[in-house]
Parts: sequence; structure tokens; C-alpha cells
Amino acid sequence: MARVALLMGGNEGDMKRTLQTAQRLINERVGAVMRCSHRYQTEAWGFKSTQPFTNQALEISTDLQPLAVLDAIQQIEVELGRNRAAEQIEKAATGARYSSRPIDIDIIFYGSESIDEERLQVPHPLLAEREFALQPLAEIMRSFRHPALGKSVGEMLEEVRITTVEQA
Ligand code: AMP
Repeated sequence: MARVALLMGGNEGDMKRTLQTAQRLINERVGAVMRCSHRYQTEAWGFKSTQPFTNQALEISTDLQPLAVLDAIQQIEVELGRNRAAEQIEKAATGARYSSRPIDIDIIFYGSESIDEERLQVPHPLLAEREFALQPLAEIMRSFRHPALGKSVGEMLEEVRITTVEQA
């Protein structure tokens, strides 16, 4: 059994409903949901969008191996309307690295494992820079330590907030 932290987010359609459905499907197919954060709304990050993003963190308990977790969450993304081909077209048109999407599910932590494979890097490599990920995560696992950085989620959140203020 592994404890896995997932971050869900999106900015298209009825996000409350999409996140509720995603959570139900994760609970049925990936692993029991042990904890879940509130939903947090933030401005789009990395590209211009009129639609704000809604993010929510989950902690699940699973028997699946990391790549099987990735396969299952990518299947759920597709079933909930994710269309990577359309996103590529939007990214090409705007030149941005990110685009609107109905749902994105990332693996943030897989226990204390460090994974560096072509399809999967865990802990998620951009976690330390993303307040929108750290904030919901801190609600459900504030004292959990990043296996490579040695910092707790709460400490990482404080640091990213200070950096954000300094850059403003
Ligand atoms: P996405 O943000 O959903 O467009 O993800 C793009 C790609 O990131 C996927 O095809 C995954 O193979 C890859 N990826 C690498 N690390 C992770 C991770 N920790 N969680 C989810 N996807 C990941």
C-alpha cells in the first residue's frame, strides 16, 4: 500500500462537478481517498486565460504501481473531456506552454519515492514553484517532507509565498 498525493485542476466547464466525478472515479479505480482538500480558485498560471483555475488535492491509498496510477488518471482525464490534441493546437496558436483544460490530474508524491522516468517524474518537478499546488496540498499534508528537498509542504508553501511577494 502506498500513500499517494494527487493534484487535480482545470478551468473549463463546471469544475465543482468535474472534480467530484474525478474524485469518485479515483476512489473506485485508483485507490481509497483518505483525505481531500477544499477547492481553491486561482488565476491561470503560465498563460493568459479568462477562466480561473480550480485546484484540489487528494491523498489516496493504493496498491497500484506508479505507472499504473498514471495510466488510470490519464484515462479518467480523457473520460472527463480532456483532449490533448486540441490543447496542442491552442498552445501552438498562443505560443504558451499551457492551455485551458477541463481536468488535469498530476501525481505529486508517491510515498517517499523518487521516480525519474520519461513518462513520470515524482515528486512533481514543479511543485516547489507552484503556490496553486502547495496551498491545497498543505491543507491535507502540511508536515509531509519532500523526499529530495527535505522540506515540508508547509515550509515550501511559506517559501513560495515569500518569493511571490519579492517578485511583485
Ligand atoms: P499534462 O500536464 O497532463 O499535460 O502532462 C503531460 C505529461 O506529463 C504526461 O503525458 C505525463 O506522462 C507526464 N508526467 C510526468 N510526470 C508526471 C506526474 N508526476 N504526474 C502526471 N503527469 C506526469
